[in-house]
Amino acid sequence: MSDIDRSPKAPDLYVHYCEHQGCDNWGSWGKSPSAAVATRWWCFEHFPHKSFDRNRR
Ligand SMILES: [Zn+2]
Repeated sequence: MSDIDRSPKAPDLYVHYCEHQGCDNWGSWGKSPSAAVATRWWCFEHFPHKSFDRNRR
């Protein structure tokens, strides 16, 4: 009868910083090779752009 019992927590509510060693920036750029592999996170600077942004140089 009521929808107030819905959980307010979001599935992505997880603290993930850039995984580059020595970097403590927020990892807002995530990448996962498949659904079976946990997403890895990097900041914009350390995100492996080369793997799928080959047109830029
Ligand atoms: Zn970084």
